[in-house]
Amino acid sequence: MKESLFATIRARIADGNRVAVRTAAGASVTYGDLLEASGRYASALVALGVRPGDRVAVQVEKSLSTLMLYLGALRAGAVYLPLNTGYTAAELSYFLGDAEARLLVCDPGRYEALAAVAAEAGVGRVETLDAAGHGSIYDRAMAAPPEFEDVPRGADDLAAILYTSGTTGRSKGAMLSHGNLASNALALCEAWRITGDDVLLHALPVFHTHGLFVAINTTLLAGASMIFLPRFDADLVVELLPRATTMMGVPTFYSRLLAHPAFDRALVAHMRLFVSGSAPLSAEVHKAFQARTGHAILERYGMTETNMNTSNPYEGERRPGTVGMPLPGVELRIADPESGRILAQGEVGVIEVRGPNVFLGYWRMPEKTAAEFRADGFFITGDMGLIDAQGYVAIVGRDKDLIITGGFNVYPAEVEAEIDALPGVRESAVIGAPHPDFGEGVTAVIAPDTGAEIDESGVRRALEHHLAKFKVPKRVLFVDQLPRNTMGKIQKNALRDTYRDIYALPGSDR
Ligand code: AMP
Repeated sequence: MKESLFATIRARIADGNRVAVRTAAGASVTYGDLLEASGRYASALVALGVRPGDRVAVQVEKSLSTLMLYLGALRAGAVYLPLNTGYTAAELSYFLGDAEARLLVCDPGRYEALAAVAAEAGVGRVETLDAAGHGSIYDRAMAAPPEFEDVPRGADDLAAILYTSGTTGRSKGAMLSHGNLASNALALCEAWRITGDDVLLHALPVFHTHGLFVAINTTLLAGASMIFLPRFDADLVVELLPRATTMMGVPTFYSRLLAHPAFDRALVAHMRLFVSGSAPLSAEVHKAFQARTGHAILERYGMTETNMNTSNPYEGERRPGTVGMPLPGVELRIADPESGRILAQGEVGVIEVRGPNVFLGYWRMPEKTAAEFRADGFFITGDMGLIDAQGYVAIVGRDKDLIITGGFNVYPAEVEAEIDALPGVRESAVIGAPHPDFGEGVTAVIAPDTGAEIDESGVRRALEHHLAKFKVPKRVLFVDQLPRNTMGKIQKNALRDTYRDIYALPGSDR
């Protein structure tokens, strides 16, 4: 893989008249249109002063324009930096400053609030794009020439930075190269047999590796097409599934579809493939899905830093509760987290991976990067797992107490810090508790100051000002003392046990 991601996509466009993207409203974009529109965005970015290697930060709703902006940024040789639409202005200020972004593209409704934050962070320009795909960057692109000579980029050049949440302290920017993205998407096209005949139902967000890289890059590299939905909506998905051949989702999508009365075997009899990832798909959902539809969901495992690492087989058993085998070109092993000693088959340890999929390191954090790689180049994922006798990898838990809610990562430390800052809080612990809809629900346990006047709704309201909605605890519980071990560490396992059923109780699900 010597070329840039876009050069690899371009080289595979066989027919400019083929449809690349459709919207739910019926608009369609051919590969020829896609070349033109992304060329216009690339021209507009360069006219705005974006130079090769500059970071283009983007916090916008999903639309066709967002897609063209992503491709335009790649063609201009910029580094695409997508940001979760739920991030607050305070959260954005850190990302913009840390990445030293040249440009921020945001929703027009947030322009006032973010322009000040951007200026303070040293960002040169702020442009807008709304949920319908209109805004100042759209206007500039439409006025710019469609012809654009792509800025040459090699496989090792940076294509994107995606911020992961920090377990302690700050978020880290995962640096992904053109070669990382292209090689992984090509491996997935092969593993999942994606061809030009496929139509992917795309209901994932496009600020995360799953919706942005796994879904979009595989579609474009295969010359396939996708139906681009602004978000997951079970009614709309049920309506559009008859026009699709494949779907990629987080486990929540599949449990929501199972809860839909019109979701049955006949509706999806023509489908070729359902893929799940980003969080554990419960064996129960896997089995219920198969019983209802006859389809075995294909579960795969990856992370922002590594792209996709493993996949259940396309042909052969898709084993519930496992994430399958390493993708071609990916080496995977299980090691003792402390000593790094390689463990035998069947033993539980930390999952380590090496291959062309693994990122270049954390943006401007050489020590953190060094700490997460072994001397022989294996990346320490932080996920705990084992390899079974047939070679299937199973993930048993997460090293760092990461919570995954609706496919989004929440690191407890960040939420705890906000809670601890509230008046009347002595200390807090944030855990994930099983949630029927979100996989895990962010749950806060607070030990208040003696006599403090503090309640659940007050805490949730206060946190909404500081944290993206998906990070705000769904339940806040109060105890006199948090359980601690002899070393003084809060025993989160004990808390997880105590509150295991909290979202299973009637009326407690929110
Ligand atoms: P992200 O960087 O947001 O993609 O999150 C990556 C993390 O999601 C991984 O380190 C895993 O902990 C988790 N993850 C992704 N896919 C799966 C899966 N199929 N099963 C269990 N955990 C998963």
